[in-house]
Parts: sequence; structure tokens; C-alpha cells
Amino acid sequence: MNIPFLSFAPQHDPIREEVLAAIAGVYDKQWYVLGDQVKAFEAAYAAFNEVNHCVGVANGLDALHLALLALNVGPGDEVLVPSNTYIATWLAISFVGATPVAVEPNTATYNIDPRRMEAAITPKTKGIMSVHLYGQACEMTAIMEVAQRYGLWVVEDNAQAQGAAWQGQMTGSFGHVNGTSFYPGKNLGALGDAGAVTTNDEILGGKIRTLRNYGSQQKYYNEVIGYNSRLDELQAAVLNVKLPYLQDWTQQRRTVAALYNQHLAGVGDLILPVTAVGATHVYHLYVVRTTHRDRLQHYLQEQGIGTLIHYPVPPHLQRAYTHLGIQEGAYPIAEELAKTSLSLPMWPGMRQEEVTAVVEGIRSFFEHL
Ligand SMILES: *Cc1c(COP(=O)(O)O)cnc(C)c1O
Repeated sequence: MNIPFLSFAPQHDPIREEVLAAIAGVYDKQWYVLGDQVKAFEAAYAAFNEVNHCVGVANGLDALHLALLALNVGPGDEVLVPSNTYIATWLAISFVGATPVAVEPNTATYNIDPRRMEAAITPKTKGIMSVHLYGQACEMTAIMEVAQRYGLWVVEDNAQAQGAAWQGQMTGSFGHVNGTSFYPGKNLGALGDAGAVTTNDEILGGKIRTLRNYGSQQKYYNEVIGYNSRLDELQAAVLNVKLPYLQDWTQQRRTVAALYNQHLAGVGDLILPVTAVGATHVYHLYVVRTTHRDRLQHYLQEQGIGTLIHYPVPPHLQRAYTHLGIQEGAYPIAEELAKTSLSLPMWPGMRQEEVTAVVEGIRSFFEHL
């Protein structure tokens, strides 16, 4: 059985007519930028995420970038960021001229460890970016406490965790201003690039609204040097159709994760995902770890089973960040995760026999080791 890393079919096939009708609606309405669909999606997503304000933007990276601009982060500022996140979180900090300061994750959850933050704080530290990695909520109570104690702002990168919660509160609603992504493969995905900022702060929300649209609130009157980073009307129409299904899809991801947990427990030297007490996990990715990672990936590939590595090179060792002069060995947890992590096939509606085939492939690899 050929099993891809990700299939959209069970998600997209049943809503095909609904999505195409929504796209046709935009086509016929002839209002293609910042129209009713964007407005409706912003309201719907704010309600879903339990925040007062949602501002649709062009993608997740822009959401984080505009969030930092709205907070007046700039050159000379330092921002705490996970050592093991996707590069986008670091890039947003670099865009505003600030310096990313890596903090290592908890070794069980892979999320930034609030207990390691104080050691990284200097007089230049202005804020914390927390990333709900792979779909699991960070320990937001402890993170907000550190922020409060040192007078720092918090930006949540919620690109992988739409619908997750920490102690009953939705991720993307803790930080002063937060970013998320609707890249197609994310838990709530558009049919192209899309993203949003979520916040309870009316002033920050207003700033983002201005920044995403040429620094303008009133057409042809520009308050600040802004950007063109608007959520596309067609993508908003697609997202309006998909959002009501998100909770079902999350449950389906959890069902797949539960099957993996059950059938992979004790297999070889595999380390399975661990969800912290107080956190929920929406399994954007199901990431296992093994010291035989590269051989396992190759073995599964030969059996027609797709896997990916999130992420093979931590940001501090990327060529893009050589100017920071951080040596290999500086962030050993992130480096270890980069060497041992493997993301297994995971999508809403993945069938039990598909999960079983992946499990059998992994079992047979370890039996022949
Ligand atoms: C996908 C992702 C982003 C960036 O989103 P884009 O829409 O691709 O720009 C940022 N942070 C994390 C953790 C992501 O997974």
C-alpha cells in the first residue's frame, strides 16, 4: 500500500461542491480584495479562537512580522524564541532588525521551556515568541508569568496549533498579539497562502489592520509605511467553508494519533509524542524519535510510505544565520531533535488500514535491525 505523507482527499472530496460554490461566489460578486469573505472569516475565526480581533493577512510569516512591527520591536532588541522551531519564527524577528535569542525546549513536549527563559534574558530582551510546536499547546501560564515578571510582551506562533488549548484557553489568545498560518497543509488550510493575526488588544489589532494595507485606514491616506499583506478574498471564501469542519478534523487527527500511540508503544527505541498535563494536542504533526531515524525513513520510503523531518537543521545552524556566530553544540537539545525526529503520515480521515500499514512498516524495520 502506497501511503503519502499527507493526503487532502478525505478532507477536500466531501466539500468539493461547497468550496467551488464559494469560489464562484467571489468570482461573480466581482469584489476581489478585502471584501465580505475576508470580513466574515475574520469574525468567524475570532469567535473560534476566542479573541476579540482577527486580522487576515497574506501568510503566517507576515502575521508574525506585522505582529512584531505593531509591538515596535526593532534593532538592538532581543527576542526569546525556541531553538527548535520552523525558520519562520526566527525570520520575523530578523525582518524587524531584532536579534533572535534561542531557548531550548522541554525534552518531552518539544515546546519552549519556560524554566530556561530567565537565563536567556538580558536588559535588551523585549519579548517572547512561543511556538505551539507540532500542534501541542505550550505551558502558557508559566510563559506569561516570566513575561510579566520581566515586563516582556508575548507573541504566540499558532501556525501549527489552531484549536489547541492550555488549561482550557485557546492557543493564539494568550499573547499580546499572535500569528497563525493557513498554508494548505496546516490544520486549517487555504488553497494557497493565507494567515491571520489574533489579539484581544484593540489598538494592536488596529495597527495590524493598517500595516497590512499600505499603512492606510482610509483609501489613499497613509498613516505609516505599511505593506501589502492582505488575506486574499478567494482564500477567505475557502476558509469560511472549511472552518466549521476544523473541530471534526482535529478529532480525526486525534484518532489517528491514538492508533499510533497504541500500536507503536514499545517498538524499537521509538519515543512517541507526550502531551503535557494542562495541554491539548491537535496533531498537526505526529513526530516520533529514534536513533535510527535516517535508516527508518529510507526503509519506509522503499515500502512506499512517505515521511518528513521537522526539521533537519535548527535555525541557529542554518546558513542564513551564520552571522550570529553560533557554533554547533550551542543548543544540544534542538540539535538532537534535528537528528532523531521523524514525522509519520498524518491527516484527518486517514484510514485505520493506512495507519496499520505504517505501523507494520515500522515494526518490520525494527525486527530486521
Ligand atoms: C507554517 C509556519 C509558519 C509560516 O507560515 P506561512 O503561512 O507558511 O508563512 C510559521 N511558523 C510555524 C511554526 C509554521 O509551522
